[in-house]
Amino acid sequence: MTQSLKAVAGTGGSVIVTRCQVCGSRKLQPSLFVGYLPPVNQMRPIGQQPHEQPAYPAGLLHCPRCQLVQLGLIVDSRILFPPDYPYTSGTTRVLHENFQELQQECAELWQLKPKDLVVDIGSNDGTLLSKFQAAGHPVLGIEPTDAGKLARERGIPTLAAYFTVKAAESARKMRGRAKVITAANCFAHIEKIHDVVKGALKLLDKDGLFITESHYLMPLLDTVQYDTIYHEHLRYYSLTSLSYLLELHDLEVVHAKEIPSHGGSIRVCAARKGMRPIQPSVRQMLDAEAARGPMTEQLATFKQRTVRSKLQLHALLAGIKAAGHRVAGVGAPSRASTLVNYTGLDDGILEYVLEVKGSRKIGRYLPGTLVPVIEESRLFEDQPEYALLFSWHIAAELMPKLRQKGYQGKFILPLPEPRIVE
Ligand SMILES: [Zn+2]
Repeated sequence: MTQSLKAVAGTGGSVIVTRCQVCGSRKLQPSLFVGYLPPVNQMRPIGQQPHEQPAYPAGLLHCPRCQLVQLGLIVDSRILFPPDYPYTSGTTRVLHENFQELQQECAELWQLKPKDLVVDIGSNDGTLLSKFQAAGHPVLGIEPTDAGKLARERGIPTLAAYFTVKAAESARKMRGRAKVITAANCFAHIEKIHDVVKGALKLLDKDGLFITESHYLMPLLDTVQYDTIYHEHLRYYSLTSLSYLLELHDLEVVHAKEIPSHGGSIRVCAARKGMRPIQPSVRQMLDAEAARGPMTEQLATFKQRTVRSKLQLHALLAGIKAAGHRVAGVGAPSRASTLVNYTGLDDGILEYVLEVKGSRKIGRYLPGTLVPVIEESRLFEDQPEYALLFSWHIAAELMPKLRQKGYQGKFILPLPEPRIVE
């Protein structure tokens, strides 16, 4: 871990957002602030004495011009996405099914042919592309982190690079133009968003489709997902703000739909103007967003509900701890770090946090705490009275699995309203 310390000291290139990341407006309005958060990838080994560590402010800003909701600080990407970045996408059933469905939609709605090249930006371990490859498509992944190795091992050609205009040009030279370019769960994460769109346009065929999947602001607000506010997530898109961004590059949204990934996401298909018919889904979703009222008011309500949710979680845990019961955390995704740090859950409240065998987080402390991350099997040996699910958004998938493996206690779902499930 001393290596990460050096990296922090040597870079320090965080940027305070004073202009909107999409439209450049300087009139940004502050909203919910969840505190100063430690970087999620700097997890200290269990047993190590606490070191000095950086913390980055995590607050939302709203742009009244383009309606983008964004983070107020852009942390240096070398700190957030070190080459050994432990996140891999091929883990949940929801994601697998979603990517399968994306492939089917491309075949049916856009008449994608097996010979058509599909390129995935931020292709991670190749889960998305594996669905297109299985349908006969030539594919190419672009992935800067170690996860790309996993993709190559499973036979998915993957460029080890950040997606830039230059990377797009070399991909085009190598493989020709792409009929579909996807950017799933990275379009909200990459700092220079306009460069990503410019790069995509260099690589995209004339009637090609640029398809993004990102966390969707509306379910985020509706289900009080303050725990998805962390430094990888620079922008929280609505279709309104995404359309604004794409139109700046002469792209138009031709289809949009809500998908279940990550507790509520949005898939947006865009094409060069006039090249593809616009589906009724676009107008429907834009109208539905407008009908919700001013974003300023929605964000004020979100802030109130977030504070209330935090206090309710404290009240619920106070009763459990007063009764002398133990609480284990289940899962250590990035959102666990925000939740734990924002609500102040420490090692006096949580016994430990469990990750499935093989996770690179095992043997380390949850960021900003002395709560150890250990192997899941301990849950079944110890049988703590309560298991708090940090991946509460996939509780329906998780709870039966944990029961099947032998867990007998009760579950705590921390969001949207903290509650106990027996
Ligand atoms: Zn803006």
